[in-house]
Amino acid sequence: MPYTNLNDAIARLDEIEATASAYGHAMGVLSLDAATAAPLGSAEGRGKTMAVLSSVIYELAASDDTRELTKYLSDHADELDPVHRRQAEIRKKDCEQLTRIPQEEYVAYNVLLNKAEGIWRVAKQNNDFAAFAPTLSEIVAFNRKFAGYYDAEKEPYDALLNEYEEGLTMQTLDAFFARLRGVIVPLVHAISEKEQPDTAFLEQSYPIEGQKKLAKYLMEVIGLDPNACTIAESEHPFTCGFNNKDVRITTHYYENHPTFSIFSTIHEGGHALYELGVEDAYNGTCLTGGASMGIHESQSRFYENIIGRSLEFIELIFPKMQEIFPEQLAGVTAYDLYRAVNKAQPSLVRTESDELTYALHIMIRYEIEKQLIAGTLEVADVPAEWNRLYKEYLGVDVPSDTQGCLQDSHWSGGSIGYFPSYALGSAYGAQMKHVMESELGPIAPCIARGEIGTITAWLREHIHRFGNFKKPAAIFEDACGKFDPDYFANYLQEKYSKLYEL
Ligand code: ZN
Repeated sequence: MPYTNLNDAIARLDEIEATASAYGHAMGVLSLDAATAAPLGSAEGRGKTMAVLSSVIYELAASDDTRELTKYLSDHADELDPVHRRQAEIRKKDCEQLTRIPQEEYVAYNVLLNKAEGIWRVAKQNNDFAAFAPTLSEIVAFNRKFAGYYDAEKEPYDALLNEYEEGLTMQTLDAFFARLRGVIVPLVHAISEKEQPDTAFLEQSYPIEGQKKLAKYLMEVIGLDPNACTIAESEHPFTCGFNNKDVRITTHYYENHPTFSIFSTIHEGGHALYELGVEDAYNGTCLTGGASMGIHESQSRFYENIIGRSLEFIELIFPKMQEIFPEQLAGVTAYDLYRAVNKAQPSLVRTESDELTYALHIMIRYEIEKQLIAGTLEVADVPAEWNRLYKEYLGVDVPSDTQGCLQDSHWSGGSIGYFPSYALGSAYGAQMKHVMESELGPIAPCIARGEIGTITAWLREHIHRFGNFKKPAAIFEDACGKFDPDYFANYLQEKYSKLYEL
Protein backbone atom coordinates (compact mmCIF):
# COMPACT_ATOMS: atom_id res chain seq x y z
CA MET A 1 0.00 0.00 0.00
CA PRO A 2 1.48 3.35 -0.98
CA TYR A 3 1.80 5.78 1.92
CA THR A 4 0.27 9.22 1.59
CA ASN A 5 -0.34 10.31 5.16
CA LEU A 6 2.41 10.96 7.69
CA ASN A 7 0.40 9.91 10.75
CA ASP A 8 -0.55 6.60 9.15
CA ALA A 9 3.06 5.98 8.23
CA ILE A 10 4.25 6.72 11.78
CA ALA A 11 1.56 4.45 13.20
CA ARG A 12 2.74 1.65 10.88
CA LEU A 13 6.35 2.24 11.89
CA ASP A 14 5.37 2.00 15.59
CA GLU A 15 3.53 -1.23 14.85
CA ILE A 16 6.52 -2.73 13.04
CA GLU A 17 8.85 -1.69 15.86
CA ALA A 18 6.66 -3.21 18.57
CA THR A 19 6.12 -6.45 16.67
CA ALA A 20 9.76 -6.92 15.65
CA SER A 21 10.85 -6.16 19.18
CA ALA A 22 8.43 -8.69 20.69
CA TYR A 23 9.53 -11.43 18.28
CA GLY A 24 13.16 -10.50 18.91
CA HIS A 25 12.53 -10.76 22.66
CA ALA A 26 11.03 -14.23 22.27
CA MET A 27 13.89 -15.41 20.05
CA GLY A 28 16.42 -14.00 22.49
CA VAL A 29 14.92 -15.93 25.39
CA LEU A 30 15.02 -19.10 23.29
CA SER A 31 18.68 -18.56 22.38
CA LEU A 32 19.58 -17.83 25.98
CA ASP A 33 17.78 -20.97 27.10
CA ALA A 34 19.54 -23.00 24.39
CA ALA A 35 22.95 -21.86 25.61
CA THR A 36 22.32 -22.19 29.33
CA ALA A 37 19.60 -24.60 30.45
CA ALA A 38 17.98 -26.50 27.58
CA PRO A 39 18.59 -30.27 27.30
CA LEU A 40 20.35 -31.54 24.17
CA GLY A 41 17.14 -33.05 22.77
CA SER A 42 15.47 -29.64 22.63
CA ALA A 43 17.28 -28.56 19.47
CA GLU A 44 14.84 -29.92 16.90
CA GLY A 45 11.71 -28.42 18.42
CA ARG A 46 13.40 -25.12 19.05
CA GLY A 47 14.71 -25.08 15.48
CA LYS A 48 11.15 -25.26 14.14
CA THR A 49 9.94 -22.50 16.44
CA MET A 50 12.92 -20.31 15.57
CA ALA A 51 12.27 -20.79 11.85
CA VAL A 52 8.69 -19.51 12.28
CA LEU A 53 9.67 -16.56 14.47
CA SER A 54 12.59 -15.52 12.29
CA SER A 55 10.49 -15.63 9.13
CA VAL A 56 8.10 -13.14 10.74
CA ILE A 57 11.03 -10.89 11.65
CA TYR A 58 12.47 -11.18 8.15
CA GLU A 59 9.13 -10.33 6.58
CA LEU A 60 8.72 -7.29 8.85
CA ALA A 61 12.23 -6.10 8.05
CA ALA A 62 12.42 -6.75 4.33
CA SER A 63 8.89 -6.69 2.91
CA ASP A 64 7.75 -4.44 0.06
CA ASP A 65 5.54 -2.67 2.59
CA THR A 66 8.55 -1.84 4.77
CA ARG A 67 10.48 -0.67 1.74
CA GLU A 68 7.69 1.69 0.72
CA LEU A 69 7.14 2.84 4.28
CA THR A 70 10.80 3.64 4.95
CA LYS A 71 11.15 5.35 1.58
CA TYR A 72 8.11 7.52 2.37
CA LEU A 73 9.44 8.33 5.84
CA SER A 74 12.86 9.17 4.51
CA ASP A 75 11.28 11.54 1.97
CA HIS A 76 9.49 13.20 4.91
CA ALA A 77 12.38 12.99 7.36
CA ASP A 78 12.23 16.72 8.14
CA GLU A 79 8.69 16.35 9.47
CA LEU A 80 9.54 13.53 11.86
CA ASP A 81 10.53 13.86 15.49
CA PRO A 82 14.17 12.83 16.07
CA VAL A 83 13.32 9.41 17.55
CA HIS A 84 11.05 8.34 14.69
CA ARG A 85 13.52 9.79 12.20
CA ARG A 86 16.32 7.62 13.55
CA GLN A 87 14.04 4.54 13.72
CA ALA A 88 13.04 5.02 10.10
CA GLU A 89 16.67 5.49 9.10
CA ILE A 90 17.73 2.24 10.79
CA ARG A 91 14.76 0.33 9.37
CA LYS A 92 15.53 1.62 5.88
CA LYS A 93 19.16 0.59 6.14
CA ASP A 94 18.18 -2.86 7.47
CA CYS A 95 15.70 -3.36 4.67
CA GLU A 96 18.29 -2.41 2.05
CA GLN A 97 20.89 -4.61 3.71
CA LEU A 98 18.62 -7.62 3.71
CA THR A 99 17.52 -7.24 0.11
CA ARG A 100 20.65 -6.04 -1.67
CA ILE A 101 22.15 -9.53 -2.08
CA PRO A 102 20.32 -11.46 -4.84
CA GLN A 103 18.27 -14.17 -3.20
CA GLU A 104 20.00 -17.14 -4.92
CA GLU A 105 23.38 -15.90 -3.72
CA TYR A 106 22.07 -15.24 -0.23
CA VAL A 107 20.72 -18.80 -0.02
CA ALA A 108 23.89 -20.34 -1.51
CA TYR A 109 26.02 -18.40 0.98
CA ASN A 110 23.94 -19.56 3.93
CA VAL A 111 24.13 -23.17 2.74
CA LEU A 112 27.91 -22.75 2.53
CA LEU A 113 28.15 -21.24 6.03
CA ASN A 114 26.01 -24.01 7.44
CA LYS A 115 28.53 -26.58 6.21
CA ALA A 116 31.56 -24.43 6.95
CA GLU A 117 31.26 -24.55 10.72
CA GLY A 118 31.51 -28.34 10.78
CA ILE A 119 34.33 -28.45 8.21
CA TRP A 120 36.33 -25.88 10.18
CA ARG A 121 35.77 -27.73 13.47
CA VAL A 122 37.07 -31.03 12.07
CA ALA A 123 39.98 -29.30 10.30
CA LYS A 124 40.94 -27.60 13.57
CA GLN A 125 40.73 -30.88 15.47
CA ASN A 126 42.91 -32.66 12.88
CA ASN A 127 45.32 -29.77 12.32
CA ASP A 128 44.39 -29.98 8.66
CA PHE A 129 44.19 -26.52 7.06
CA ALA A 130 43.99 -28.03 3.56
CA ALA A 131 40.62 -29.56 4.48
CA PHE A 132 39.24 -26.08 5.31
CA ALA A 133 40.99 -24.12 2.53
CA PRO A 134 38.46 -24.72 -0.32
CA THR A 135 35.59 -23.63 1.96
CA LEU A 136 37.50 -20.55 3.13
CA SER A 137 38.22 -19.68 -0.54
CA GLU A 138 34.51 -19.78 -1.29
CA ILE A 139 33.71 -17.64 1.77
CA VAL A 140 36.32 -15.07 0.72
CA ALA A 141 34.97 -15.03 -2.85
CA PHE A 142 31.41 -14.42 -1.59
CA ASN A 143 32.60 -11.63 0.70
CA ARG A 144 34.51 -9.91 -2.10
CA LYS A 145 31.37 -10.01 -4.19
CA PHE A 146 29.09 -8.89 -1.33
CA ALA A 147 31.40 -5.95 -0.64
CA GLY A 148 30.38 -4.62 -4.06
CA TYR A 149 26.69 -4.97 -3.18
CA TYR A 150 27.24 -3.28 0.19
CA ASP A 151 28.98 -0.26 -1.29
CA ALA A 152 30.49 -0.35 -4.77
CA GLU A 153 32.18 3.01 -4.25
CA LYS A 154 34.33 1.77 -1.37
CA GLU A 155 37.39 -0.47 -1.44
CA PRO A 156 35.98 -3.98 -0.85
CA TYR A 157 37.53 -4.44 2.60
CA ASP A 158 36.36 -0.96 3.67
CA ALA A 159 32.85 -1.96 2.65
CA LEU A 160 33.10 -5.07 4.86
CA LEU A 161 34.51 -3.10 7.83
CA ASN A 162 31.64 -0.65 7.50
CA GLU A 163 29.16 -3.49 8.03
CA TYR A 164 30.46 -4.07 11.56
CA GLU A 165 31.52 -0.55 12.55
CA GLU A 166 29.91 2.19 10.51
CA GLY A 167 32.53 4.49 9.00
CA LEU A 168 35.57 2.39 9.93
CA THR A 169 38.22 2.32 7.17
CA MET A 170 41.59 0.74 6.45
CA GLN A 171 43.08 4.22 6.55
CA THR A 172 42.02 4.65 10.19
CA LEU A 173 43.06 1.12 11.11
CA ASP A 174 46.46 1.25 9.40
CA ALA A 175 47.37 4.37 11.39
CA PHE A 176 45.85 2.98 14.60
CA PHE A 177 47.66 -0.35 14.41
CA ALA A 178 50.99 1.20 13.34
CA ARG A 179 50.87 3.45 16.41
CA LEU A 180 50.03 0.53 18.70
CA ARG A 181 52.66 -1.73 17.22
CA GLY A 182 55.26 0.97 17.84
CA VAL A 183 54.42 0.90 21.55
CA ILE A 184 53.49 -2.72 22.21
CA VAL A 185 56.33 -4.52 20.42
CA PRO A 186 59.12 -2.71 22.38
CA LEU A 187 57.14 -3.14 25.63
CA VAL A 188 56.78 -6.88 25.04
CA HIS A 189 60.47 -7.07 24.30
CA ALA A 190 61.43 -5.17 27.47
CA ILE A 191 59.07 -7.31 29.57
CA SER A 192 60.67 -10.50 28.23
CA GLU A 193 63.88 -9.50 30.01
CA LYS A 194 62.10 -9.07 33.35
CA GLU A 195 61.05 -11.59 35.92
CA GLN A 196 57.43 -12.69 35.52
CA PRO A 197 54.97 -12.60 38.45
CA ASP A 198 54.17 -15.86 40.21
CA THR A 199 50.76 -17.16 39.12
CA ALA A 200 50.95 -20.65 40.66
CA PHE A 201 48.48 -19.71 43.42
CA LEU A 202 45.82 -19.16 40.73
CA GLU A 203 46.22 -22.68 39.36
CA GLN A 204 44.98 -24.53 42.46
CA SER A 205 41.47 -25.84 43.02
CA TYR A 206 38.93 -23.04 43.55
CA PRO A 207 35.60 -24.83 44.17
CA ILE A 208 32.87 -23.72 41.78
CA GLU A 209 30.43 -22.89 44.60
CA GLY A 210 32.89 -20.31 45.89
CA GLN A 211 33.43 -18.91 42.40
CA LYS A 212 29.67 -18.48 42.03
CA LYS A 213 29.52 -16.51 45.26
CA LEU A 214 32.37 -14.35 44.06
CA ALA A 215 30.66 -13.69 40.70
CA LYS A 216 27.51 -12.49 42.53
CA TYR A 217 29.65 -10.26 44.72
CA LEU A 218 31.45 -8.77 41.69
CA MET A 219 28.13 -7.98 40.02
CA GLU A 220 27.13 -6.12 43.17
CA VAL A 221 30.45 -4.24 43.35
CA ILE A 222 30.19 -2.94 39.78
CA GLY A 223 26.60 -1.89 40.47
CA LEU A 224 24.42 -4.36 38.61
CA ASP A 225 20.89 -4.34 39.98
CA PRO A 226 19.92 -7.98 40.77
CA ASN A 227 16.33 -7.12 39.76
CA ALA A 228 17.53 -6.27 36.27
CA CYS A 229 20.46 -8.60 35.65
CA THR A 230 21.11 -12.24 36.50
CA ILE A 231 23.97 -14.57 35.66
CA ALA A 232 23.87 -18.09 34.17
CA GLU A 233 26.47 -20.57 32.91
CA SER A 234 27.33 -21.31 29.30
CA GLU A 235 30.24 -22.69 27.28
CA HIS A 236 31.33 -19.22 26.14
CA PRO A 237 30.36 -16.14 28.16
CA PHE A 238 27.96 -13.67 26.54
CA THR A 239 25.43 -10.93 27.26
CA CYS A 240 21.84 -10.96 26.10
CA GLY A 241 19.72 -7.83 26.56
CA PHE A 242 15.96 -7.57 26.09
CA ASN A 243 15.30 -4.04 27.33
CA ASN A 244 16.79 -1.63 29.88
CA LYS A 245 15.19 -3.52 32.78
CA ASP A 246 16.24 -7.01 31.73
CA VAL A 247 19.75 -7.96 30.65
CA ARG A 248 21.29 -11.40 31.26
CA ILE A 249 24.94 -12.34 31.42
CA THR A 250 26.67 -15.72 31.44
CA THR A 251 30.04 -17.02 32.49
CA HIS A 252 31.94 -20.29 32.62
CA TYR A 253 33.54 -21.66 35.78
CA TYR A 254 36.83 -23.58 35.57
CA GLU A 255 37.85 -25.12 38.86
CA ASN A 256 41.58 -24.48 38.34
CA HIS A 257 41.24 -21.14 36.58
CA PRO A 258 39.22 -18.78 38.80
CA THR A 259 40.31 -15.61 36.98
CA PHE A 260 38.38 -16.73 33.91
CA SER A 261 35.00 -16.36 35.60
CA ILE A 262 36.13 -13.27 37.54
CA PHE A 263 37.08 -11.27 34.45
CA SER A 264 34.42 -12.65 32.14
CA THR A 265 31.79 -11.69 34.73
CA ILE A 266 33.15 -8.14 34.90
CA HIS A 267 33.46 -7.99 31.08
CA GLU A 268 29.90 -9.16 30.45
CA GLY A 269 28.80 -7.00 33.38
CA GLY A 270 30.18 -4.01 31.45
CA HIS A 271 28.06 -4.94 28.42
CA ALA A 272 25.05 -5.29 30.73
CA LEU A 273 25.56 -1.91 32.44
CA TYR A 274 25.66 -0.34 28.99
CA GLU A 275 22.32 -1.80 27.91
CA LEU A 276 20.70 -1.11 31.29
CA GLY A 277 21.74 2.53 30.95
CA VAL A 278 19.83 3.15 27.71
CA GLU A 279 16.94 5.65 27.83
CA ASP A 280 13.56 4.15 28.90
CA ALA A 281 11.84 5.62 25.86
CA TYR A 282 13.80 3.34 23.51
CA ASN A 283 12.49 0.09 24.99
CA GLY A 284 10.58 -1.98 22.45
CA THR A 285 12.28 -0.26 19.51
CA CYS A 286 15.43 -0.73 17.45
CA LEU A 287 17.03 2.11 19.45
CA THR A 288 17.52 0.04 22.59
CA GLY A 289 20.70 -2.01 23.13
CA GLY A 290 24.13 -0.83 22.02
CA ALA A 291 25.20 1.33 19.10
CA SER A 292 27.88 -0.94 17.63
CA MET A 293 30.29 -3.71 18.38
CA GLY A 294 33.15 -1.22 18.89
CA ILE A 295 31.22 0.91 21.38
CA HIS A 296 29.96 -2.21 23.15
CA GLU A 297 33.49 -3.59 23.54
CA SER A 298 34.70 -0.20 24.77
CA GLN A 299 32.29 -0.57 27.69
CA SER A 300 32.96 -4.23 28.53
CA ARG A 301 36.72 -3.68 28.37
CA PHE A 302 36.48 -0.51 30.42
CA TYR A 303 34.99 -2.49 33.30
CA GLU A 304 37.14 -5.57 32.74
CA ASN A 305 40.54 -3.93 32.21
CA ILE A 306 40.59 -0.26 33.17
CA ILE A 307 38.55 -0.84 36.34
CA GLY A 308 38.80 -4.59 36.97
CA ARG A 309 42.54 -5.02 36.44
CA SER A 310 43.50 -1.86 38.36
CA LEU A 311 45.37 -2.14 41.65
CA GLU A 312 42.58 -0.26 43.44
CA PHE A 313 39.90 -2.68 42.26
CA ILE A 314 41.95 -5.73 43.19
CA GLU A 315 42.54 -4.23 46.66
CA LEU A 316 38.82 -3.57 46.93
CA ILE A 317 37.73 -7.14 46.20
CA PHE A 318 40.65 -8.98 47.76
CA PRO A 319 39.21 -9.25 51.31
CA LYS A 320 36.09 -10.93 49.93
CA MET A 321 38.21 -13.30 47.86
CA GLN A 322 40.23 -14.23 50.94
CA GLU A 323 37.03 -14.79 52.88
CA ILE A 324 35.74 -17.20 50.21
CA PHE A 325 39.10 -18.87 49.47
CA PRO A 326 41.13 -18.61 52.70
CA GLU A 327 43.41 -21.58 52.02
CA GLN A 328 44.09 -20.87 48.35
CA LEU A 329 45.02 -17.26 49.10
CA ALA A 330 46.91 -17.80 52.35
CA GLY A 331 50.14 -15.81 52.24
CA VAL A 332 49.09 -14.00 49.04
CA THR A 333 48.74 -10.20 49.01
CA ALA A 334 46.43 -8.02 46.94
CA TYR A 335 49.52 -6.76 45.14
CA ASP A 336 50.54 -10.34 44.25
CA LEU A 337 47.10 -10.87 42.76
CA TYR A 338 47.25 -7.53 40.92
CA ARG A 339 50.55 -8.52 39.30
CA ALA A 340 49.32 -12.04 38.50
CA VAL A 341 46.16 -10.87 36.70
CA ASN A 342 48.22 -8.42 34.65
CA LYS A 343 50.92 -10.84 33.56
CA ALA A 344 51.87 -9.98 29.97
CA GLN A 345 53.41 -12.63 27.81
CA PRO A 346 53.32 -13.33 24.08
CA SER A 347 51.12 -16.33 23.39
CA LEU A 348 49.58 -18.25 20.54
CA VAL A 349 45.88 -18.07 21.30
CA ARG A 350 43.96 -14.80 21.08
CA THR A 351 41.29 -15.63 23.64
CA GLU A 352 43.92 -16.48 26.26
CA SER A 353 46.05 -13.40 25.63
CA ASP A 354 46.53 -10.47 28.00
CA GLU A 355 45.51 -6.82 27.79
CA LEU A 356 48.90 -5.76 26.34
CA THR A 357 49.41 -8.34 23.60
CA TYR A 358 45.74 -8.73 22.63
CA ALA A 359 45.88 -6.03 19.97
CA LEU A 360 48.77 -7.79 18.22
CA HIS A 361 46.60 -10.87 17.74
CA ILE A 362 43.94 -8.66 16.17
CA MET A 363 46.47 -6.90 13.91
CA ILE A 364 47.58 -10.22 12.46
CA ARG A 365 44.04 -11.18 11.54
CA TYR A 366 43.49 -7.72 10.10
CA GLU A 367 46.60 -7.92 7.89
CA ILE A 368 45.52 -11.32 6.58
CA GLU A 369 41.90 -10.37 5.93
CA LYS A 370 42.95 -7.20 4.16
CA GLN A 371 45.21 -9.15 1.80
CA LEU A 372 42.66 -11.92 1.21
CA ILE A 373 39.97 -9.44 0.21
CA ALA A 374 42.39 -7.42 -1.91
CA GLY A 375 43.37 -10.65 -3.66
CA THR A 376 47.07 -10.25 -2.80
CA LEU A 377 47.14 -13.37 -0.60
CA GLU A 378 45.98 -16.82 -1.66
CA VAL A 379 44.02 -18.85 0.88
CA ALA A 380 46.61 -21.64 0.54
CA ASP A 381 49.28 -19.22 1.81
CA VAL A 382 47.35 -18.16 4.94
CA PRO A 383 49.18 -20.54 7.34
CA ALA A 384 52.62 -19.37 6.20
CA GLU A 385 51.62 -15.70 6.45
CA TRP A 386 49.97 -16.27 9.83
CA ASN A 387 53.10 -17.94 11.22
CA ARG A 388 55.37 -15.27 9.77
CA LEU A 389 53.34 -12.49 11.41
CA TYR A 390 53.20 -14.27 14.80
CA LYS A 391 56.98 -14.50 14.70
CA GLU A 392 57.38 -10.89 13.65
CA TYR A 393 54.86 -9.29 16.05
CA LEU A 394 54.89 -11.63 19.04
CA GLY A 395 58.16 -13.49 18.62
CA VAL A 396 56.47 -16.88 18.93
CA ASP A 397 56.76 -19.96 16.72
CA VAL A 398 53.38 -21.42 15.80
CA PRO A 399 53.61 -25.20 16.26
CA SER A 400 50.38 -26.13 14.44
CA ASP A 401 47.50 -24.59 12.49
CA THR A 402 45.20 -25.79 15.27
CA GLN A 403 46.90 -23.25 17.53
CA GLY A 404 47.47 -20.95 14.57
CA CYS A 405 45.20 -19.86 11.74
CA LEU A 406 42.48 -22.42 12.56
CA GLN A 407 41.94 -21.22 16.15
CA ASP A 408 39.02 -18.79 15.63
CA SER A 409 35.55 -19.63 14.37
CA HIS A 410 34.96 -16.19 12.81
CA TRP A 411 36.00 -16.92 9.21
CA SER A 412 33.98 -20.11 9.04
CA GLY A 413 31.01 -18.04 10.19
CA GLY A 414 31.58 -15.60 7.33
CA SER A 415 32.73 -12.77 9.60
CA ILE A 416 35.45 -10.96 7.68
CA GLY A 417 36.08 -7.42 8.89
CA TYR A 418 34.79 -8.11 12.38
CA PHE A 419 38.05 -8.56 14.34
CA PRO A 420 39.28 -4.93 14.24
CA SER A 421 36.33 -3.71 16.31
CA TYR A 422 37.65 -5.72 19.26
CA ALA A 423 40.89 -3.71 19.33
CA LEU A 424 39.06 -0.48 18.65
CA GLY A 425 36.95 -0.98 21.80
CA SER A 426 40.00 -0.96 24.07
CA ALA A 427 41.32 2.19 22.42
CA TYR A 428 37.95 3.95 22.69
CA GLY A 429 37.90 3.05 26.39
CA ALA A 430 41.32 4.56 27.07
CA GLN A 431 40.27 7.85 25.47
CA MET A 432 37.01 7.83 27.46
CA LYS A 433 39.05 7.40 30.64
CA HIS A 434 41.14 10.43 29.72
CA VAL A 435 38.12 12.65 29.07
CA MET A 436 36.30 11.34 32.14
CA GLU A 437 39.30 12.15 34.35
CA SER A 438 39.62 15.63 32.90
CA GLU A 439 36.08 16.21 34.18
CA LEU A 440 35.92 14.11 37.36
CA GLY A 441 39.56 13.95 38.43
CA PRO A 442 41.44 10.65 38.71
CA ILE A 443 39.16 7.62 38.89
CA ALA A 444 41.55 5.48 40.94
CA PRO A 445 40.33 6.94 44.28
CA CYS A 446 36.69 6.29 43.24
CA ILE A 447 37.56 2.67 42.53
CA ALA A 448 39.45 2.36 45.83
CA ARG A 449 36.34 3.57 47.70
CA GLY A 450 34.11 1.19 45.77
CA GLU A 451 32.33 4.09 44.10
CA ILE A 452 32.08 2.48 40.68
CA GLY A 453 28.69 4.22 40.36
CA THR A 454 30.44 7.56 39.85
CA ILE A 455 32.21 6.15 36.79
CA THR A 456 29.07 4.45 35.50
CA ALA A 457 27.14 7.70 35.89
CA TRP A 458 29.62 9.46 33.58
CA LEU A 459 29.45 6.66 31.02
CA ARG A 460 25.67 6.62 31.23
CA GLU A 461 25.47 10.36 30.60
CA HIS A 462 27.92 10.37 27.67
CA ILE A 463 27.53 6.91 26.11
CA HIS A 464 24.93 4.51 27.50
CA ARG A 465 21.74 6.54 27.42
CA PHE A 466 21.88 7.10 23.66
CA GLY A 467 21.52 3.41 22.82
CA ASN A 468 21.27 3.24 19.07
CA PHE A 469 19.82 6.75 18.77
CA LYS A 470 23.06 8.23 17.51
CA LYS A 471 25.57 6.63 15.14
CA PRO A 472 28.54 5.04 16.90
CA ALA A 473 31.07 7.55 15.58
CA ALA A 474 28.84 10.44 16.71
CA ILE A 475 28.44 8.98 20.20
CA PHE A 476 32.18 8.64 20.54
CA GLU A 477 33.08 12.03 19.07
CA ASP A 478 30.41 13.95 20.98
CA ALA A 479 31.78 12.45 24.20
CA CYS A 480 35.52 12.36 23.48
CA GLY A 481 36.37 14.38 20.37
CA LYS A 482 38.27 12.92 17.45
CA PHE A 483 39.53 9.36 17.91
CA ASP A 484 43.23 9.37 18.80
CA PRO A 485 45.10 6.07 19.33
CA ASP A 486 47.70 7.90 21.46
CA TYR A 487 45.47 7.61 24.53
CA PHE A 488 45.50 3.83 24.41
CA ALA A 489 49.21 3.72 23.53
CA ASN A 490 50.00 5.97 26.51
CA TYR A 491 47.73 3.99 28.81
CA LEU A 492 49.54 0.74 27.96
CA GLN A 493 52.96 2.37 28.19
CA GLU A 494 52.24 3.81 31.62
CA LYS A 495 50.54 0.74 33.05
CA TYR A 496 53.11 -1.83 31.96
CA SER A 497 56.18 0.32 32.64
CA LYS A 498 54.99 0.58 36.23
CA LEU A 499 53.97 -3.07 36.57
CA TYR A 500 57.28 -4.40 35.27
CA GLU A 501 59.45 -1.52 36.53
CA LEU A 502 60.76 -0.82 33.03
ZN1 ZN B 1 32.53 -8.48 24.83
